[in-house]
Amino acid sequence: MASPRTASPASLRRIGLTGGIGSGKSTVAELWREAGLTVIDLDAHSRRLLDVPGAGVEEAVARFGEQYRTQDGTIDRQALARLVFADAQARADLEQIVLGRVDEAVRAAEAAALAAGERIIVHDNPLLLEKHRERDYDLVVAVLARREDRIARVEQNRGRDRPYTESVMAAQVTDLERIRRADLLLHNTGTLEDLRHRAARALERIDELTVGPRT
Ligand code: ADP
Repeated sequence: MASPRTASPASLRRIGLTGGIGSGKSTVAELWREAGLTVIDLDAHSRRLLDVPGAGVEEAVARFGEQYRTQDGTIDRQALARLVFADAQARADLEQIVLGRVDEAVRAAEAAALAAGERIIVHDNPLLLEKHRERDYDLVVAVLARREDRIARVEQNRGRDRPYTESVMAAQVTDLERIRRADLLLHNTGTLEDLRHRAARALERIDELTVGPRT
């Protein structure tokens, strides 16, 4: 178990949810949302920066070229994803453009949730371990699934082929790292119904692990 974390305000418990591509992380985030938790989707915030004309789009075009600008003035994210998962420097540059702005949007969303009286906030954060952000969280939960299941699900549900999924996996931490660095593991090795049960069980554990005075 990692050391206690103290980054969030005293009245707030911040949970980090992470997992590799196709692991089922977004499904767990949705289940927790249905259960009433406030979940901030960091990936959605970063997509929005490229889906709405503005400073993020302009910086991305300046770095990667006009060919990534769509007719409606946004970024062709699929094309850009192919590039950045094949080129580590391009990926670092895109992160540089996006991550600071995402942090800003997340802080605003969190302030709104706190003002509304929320005391547990989940960040659905695909880059949590890759960016070494564990210290931002009181508890880090990682979703794990078999590599072949992940590739098949991404192909079936998102239409992305094996080489694409493998290129994303290569840019992410390994399951061994997830096991080593997360506080709680959620094994998505059965049906969706199994995942639903495990996500509910994990919520009970989160309640147990995050109540009481902070150490
Ligand atoms: P991630 O956010 O980790 O990339 P998702 O939660 O989007 O992954 O899951 C990928 C796809 O696989 C989704 O369409 C989801 O419905 C499906 N899926 C997730 N877990 C299971 C499971 N246990 N059985 C069948 N399909 C699943």
